Amino acid sequence: MIQNAYVGLGSNLGDRAGYLLLAVRGMLDAGLDVIRLSSIYETEPLENEHQPAFLNMVAELRGSTLPSPEQMLARLLRVEYALGRKRDVPMGPRTIDLDLLIFRDQRLATEFLTVPHPRLHARRFVLVPLNELVPNLVHPVLGKPIRELLSQTKDRSNVVRWAST
Ligand code: AMP
Repeated sequence: MIQNAYVGLGSNLGDRAGYLLLAVRGMLDAGLDVIRLSSIYETEPLENEHQPAFLNMVAELRGSTLPSPEQMLARLLRVEYALGRKRDVPMGPRTIDLDLLIFRDQRLATEFLTVPHPRLHARRFVLVPLNELVPNLVHPVLGKPIRELLSQTKDRSNVVRWAST
């Protein structure tokens, strides 16, 4: 049984670490109870390589105080817009990107929301920070622990612990 929810955060424009932390603040202000954060990782852009490197992190949210998955997505989108996210270039640079990765044991696929996030297992920039928090969490659809998804993923992209300089 998965009790909590997990959100992936990413930024590759401007003060990247500042945006990650403002997004955490925004989630708390929106009543989403962030209880744990992974380290921050610097990662290569996957689909569109001609853009700056990302910083990525995963946040764990307390399950007992979660709204519905749809309400949660609405709140995440509101935080993105508040931080100046503009959706002009698909897969392009962004101040902040928030993805609902896992919502308890829920499986959902609607026009607006798919959970678990459909590309979670194909992205080291999500799997590495998620593995830091919950290596034994079993993916509700794939039936494998995060640790195993990480060791088996085909993604070879570079994900390294970030140190502010
Ligand atoms: P993107 O521009 O890549 O951040 O995509 C955001 C859009 O993807 C949102 O407007 C959602 O409607 C949709 N979406 C579907 N599933 C998810 C998910 N698990 N987490 C975040 N967004 C999702």
